[in-house]
Amino acid sequence: TRQFTRPLNDLANQWNSVLSAIAGAERVFEVLDEDTEAKDENAAASVGQIRGEVKFRNVSFSYNGDADTLRDISFEAKPGEMIALVGPTGAGKTTLIGLLSRFYNPSKGTITIDGKDLATIRRESLRSQMAFVLQDTFLFKGSIRDNIRYGRLEATDEEVEKAARLANAHSFIIRMPGGYDRMLSADGGGISQGQKQLLAIARAILADPAMLVLDEATSSIDTVTELKIQEGLQSLMKGRTSFVIAHRLNTIRQADRILVLRDGELVQQGTHEELLDKGGLYNELVLGAARAEAKRPTL
Ligand code: ADP
Repeated sequence: TRQFTRPLNDLANQWNSVLSAIAGAERVFEVLDEDTEAKDENAAASVGQIRGEVKFRNVSFSYNGDADTLRDISFEAKPGEMIALVGPTGAGKTTLIGLLSRFYNPSKGTITIDGKDLATIRRESLRSQMAFVLQDTFLFKGSIRDNIRYGRLEATDEEVEKAARLANAHSFIIRMPGGYDRMLSADGGGISQGQKQLLAIARAILADPAMLVLDEATSSIDTVTELKIQEGLQSLMKGRTSFVIAHRLNTIRQADRILVLRDGELVQQGTHEELLDKGGLYNELVLGAARAEAKRPTL
């Protein structure tokens, strides 16, 4: 799955750059502007605090102007809902997230947030209200404290620690030599994959966004850390509209709505129970997942 999670990480790192409002990072963004990225219309405006109601109406998207990567996608997310995206690799889950975050504009159809056409919302304004928790957490050379503080640069030490507690990261941090002052290398050497995710969750809690994008880990993480991550994610997702590229059955079950994608089409949507009743692709995926989870805990 790694090569398919890469684009999402690229997206998110660009975002985090904006979120951090560091001048250097903004330069990175301008370079991207010239490239593939959806440009702000002249009329694009900043939005205030958003509630996080998302509507896709008949959205299609093509990377190359030729074949559609997403076709005629319609769904709604109410503020605070958790939406799980499932489907085989290449189905279009990452692309859908790219559209949601205005990395690309739809070729057809509209996306609205709180009733406003996404195309009229300034990118920075949107992205300051979104956070990402991905398989590969972006870390930089600096203390654990500063790595968490990256979510909101003006946060106090107390706020950093409060976020870490909510994320379930506090206990592992204080058990490490140096605690919050422990220096991390850019690749986060010395801490585990699961601990990196806990830091990402703390960072996102600190950022306090209205909307979240989560890309659930596919790599196996020890059971205790996995449980901590699940709990940390619960605190994080509470009251925020969350889009989860989900690999674990447990996560998917909790979703308010599951979107089942295949070959760029939204073939089914509903809750776990509704979709199980209907049969079809979701059933196949779930059965496959159940078999896989007997061996390893991922979909
Ligand atoms: P998923 O996240 O479900 O694995 P993706 O959204 O990454 O699916 O990919 C959907 C399809 O779009 C795939 O066929 C993929 O090869 C293609 N695709 C993804 N990114 C790009 C890109 N930047 N340019 C062209 N095609 C792409």
